[in-house]
Amino acid sequence: MKILVVGSGGREHALCWKLRQSPRVTELYAAPGNGGTAAEGVNVPIQDDDIPGLIAFAKEKHIDLVVAGPELPLVLGLSDALAREGIPCFGPNAYAANLEGSKAFSKLVMHEAGVPTAPFRIFDEFELARDFVREKGAPIVVKADGLAAGKGVVVARTVEEAEEALDMMMNRKAFGSAGDRVVVEETLQGEEASFLAFCDGEHYAVLPSSQDHKAVGEGDTGPNTGGMGAYSPAPILPRERFEETAEQVIRPILRHMAEKGQPYKGVLYAGLMYTADGLGVLEYNVRFGDPECQPLLARLDGDLLEIMLACVEGRLPEVAVKARPEAALGVVMAAEGYPQSYPKGMEISGIADAESLPGVKVFQAGTAPTEDGGVVTSGGRVLCVTALGDGLAEAKERAYLAVNKVHFENSYFRRDIGDKGLQRLG
Ligand code: ATP
Repeated sequence: MKILVVGSGGREHALCWKLRQSPRVTELYAAPGNGGTAAEGVNVPIQDDDIPGLIAFAKEKHIDLVVAGPELPLVLGLSDALAREGIPCFGPNAYAANLEGSKAFSKLVMHEAGVPTAPFRIFDEFELARDFVREKGAPIVVKADGLAAGKGVVVARTVEEAEEALDMMMNRKAFGSAGDRVVVEETLQGEEASFLAFCDGEHYAVLPSSQDHKAVGEGDTGPNTGGMGAYSPAPILPRERFEETAEQVIRPILRHMAEKGQPYKGVLYAGLMYTADGLGVLEYNVRFGDPECQPLLARLDGDLLEIMLACVEGRLPEVAVKARPEAALGVVMAAEGYPQSYPKGMEISGIADAESLPGVKVFQAGTAPTEDGGVVTSGGRVLCVTALGDGLAEAKERAYLAVNKVHFENSYFRRDIGDKGLQRLG
C-alpha cells in the first residue's frame, strides 16, 4: 500500500518509522517531512497547509491512505477533500477537527456531551469579557478561540494579567482572527496527563497514558514550548483506570459526533487535569501529541497500518491495540534559544551511536538531510531521543545515555524528563 504522512515533526518521523514496520507498506511519502522521514521513505516538498497540493499528489501517486500528523490540515478540511476523491484519511473531518480548531466549540461539545471540564463562558466582545473577569477574580484562564500555535492560553494569576490577555487577543489581535472570540474559564489545579484513543467513528481503543513537559526549563520553569519530553505510562493514570476514564472522556465525544452525523475517525487526544475534586478535561486534540507520540509509538505492540485502516473503515474491534510492558521516555534535544530565536544548520553527529544502545530510537524533528547523507538542524526542537526500559527509571537512564552520544553545537535539553512520574512512583 502507498501511504502519505503529512507533517514535518518528530511525531511524523515516529509515524513513518512505525508504519514502515508494516509488511503491507510498499511506498511511504512524507509531506514535507524532515531528515528522519527521508530515511524511512521519500520526502515531497508540499507544506502541511497546502490542501490542493496534497490532494493532487495523493491522486497522482494513487495513495491508499493519508495520515495527518498535525491539526492544521485537518482543521482546513484535508479529510473532507480526500473523501471527495475517494481517498481514505486517518484523521477527522473539519467539523470534528473543530474540537481542537475552536476552543469555544470544544467547550460547548464537552458541555453538551457531559464531559467533566472547567466552568466557562464564551465572549465576542472585549468589554463583556473584561467585566466577567473583574466579577470572577483571579486566578482565571483566558483562551483564544482559534489555533495559536500553543500560545493562545493564559493562566492569569491576577485580574490585571487576565485583562491584559483579553486586550492582547481581542483588541491588539496578537493571534489574528483566532482571538476574535475567547473562552474564559475557571482554573483547575492539579497534575496533567495525556490520554489518547484510536477511534473508528463508533468504537475506541485506548493507548497507554502519557505525560509531556511543556515548559522549556527544568522544574517546569520558563516559557512554554511545543514540548521538551514525554514518557509513558503516566503513573497518575494507571492501566486499571483506562476503561473508566475512556467512558468519561472518549465515549461521550464519539457518541456526540455520531449523533451529529460526523463520526470521529482518527486519534482523539484528551488533555486531562487531576484535581482534588476529580478529573477535568483541559482540551481535546485531534491528532497525536508531539512529543507524546514518540514514546507511545515506541510502546505500541502491533501493526500501525492495520490499526489506522481499521479506524477509517469502522472495524476497530477486529484489530488488536496492545502496548509493550516496558515504559518509554523521550528527551527533546533543542537548539539553544528555543522557543525564541535559535541558530540553524548545525551538523548533527552520533545518532547511529545512540541507536546502538538497547531500546533506543532517535526521532528527528527540526532536521534536514544533507547531500552527503548527513543531517543538520533546521528547527527549534531538533530530536526526540526515545528509549524503552523496564520501568520509567530504566527508560530515563537509557534515554539520557543516548542523549550524551548525540552532538550538535549549542544543543539544549531538560535533564528532568520523567521525574514527576518517578516521584509519584516513590
Ligand atoms: P497545546 O495545543 O499546545 O497543547 P493549547 O494552546 O491548545 O495547547 P490548552 O492545552 O488548552 O491550549 O492549554 C494549554 C495549557 O494551559 C494546558 O496544558 C494547561 O497547563 C493550561 N490550562 C488550560 N486550561 C486550564 C485550566 N482551566 N486551569 C489550569 N490550567 C489550564
